[in-house]
Amino acid sequence: MSRIEDISTPKRTKEIISRHGFSFKKSLGQNFLIDQNILYKIVEAAGLDGEKGALEIGPGIGALTEKLAQTAGTVTAVEIDQRLIPILREVLEPYENVRVHHGDVLKVDLHELFRQDFGDVSKVSVVANLPYYVTTPILMKLLEEKLPLENIVVMIQKEVAERMAAAPGSKDYGSLSIAVQYYSEPKLVCIVPHTVFIPQPNVESAVIRLAVREQPPVRVEDERFFFEVVQASFAQRRKTIANNLKSRFFPGEGRERLEQLLQEAGIDPSRRGETLSIEEYARLSNVLFGANIR
Ligand code: SAM
Repeated sequence: MSRIEDISTPKRTKEIISRHGFSFKKSLGQNFLIDQNILYKIVEAAGLDGEKGALEIGPGIGALTEKLAQTAGTVTAVEIDQRLIPILREVLEPYENVRVHHGDVLKVDLHELFRQDFGDVSKVSVVANLPYYVTTPILMKLLEEKLPLENIVVMIQKEVAERMAAAPGSKDYGSLSIAVQYYSEPKLVCIVPHTVFIPQPNVESAVIRLAVREQPPVRVEDERFFFEVVQASFAQRRKTIANNLKSRFFPGEGRERLEQLLQEAGIDPSRRGETLSIEEYARLSNVLFGANIR
């Protein structure tokens, strides 16, 4: 435990950074964690044990990685910044269960990585303080690739966390809420003050836990089309669902036909996209798909 206290205190972090002549790159979302309590909270939320695996995206100088190494059976970390690799090797040197890969997580073949590093591990969590500039692409890649994940526990921008966890009818509810909730059950773990980072980000932060679903909560005929309908329905938030869908799928004539299909799906054409549940979107996209509207 003492090593974690060392690495995550501001003094120790500053010592490592200055000894290696490291300078933060804002463009890589480098805001490192320097607070013990928040590290504990993140690791605890993932429910790890010695049998499980952890994938960390963006280990930085290894504050969270070290904590994961002491809790999980196997830890794999992917870091884009080559300058951090020697620092990570030094900090993580005592741990035999950690592998560090240099690369961009958006370009890495994650199925291959899982085969290599988690071949004999049945349950894997993603645990990370994510670079905020690529939060959504990273999370959607993890979810869409249907990796054998138990859960994803990540520090992200608070506003994005709220959108992911939002329920129908709320101002934060949108296509991101539906995409994330199709693949997982999100739960806000905690809101985090700026002071836990060095340097401090200029947006608010939160930890969110996504419990990855084994099966989506709804049956859709065609996933790609389902998400297209959802996107189209939120194209202009103040428009009704009928108006948004008309612009996308019924240019020119066809208003009557569209209203008929909406009724068939049990949806009042004057409703707004933000009031429809994921079940209603599934029903609607299935009716449209069945009627050859694509
Ligand atoms: N985990 C460390 C911590 O909590 O102190 C650092 C977190 S910092 C918010 C984000 C980290 O992600 C940085 O180390 C950054 O270099 C790395 N990173 C940024 N973009 C990345 C990408 N596309 N693939 C992998 N790592 C990335």
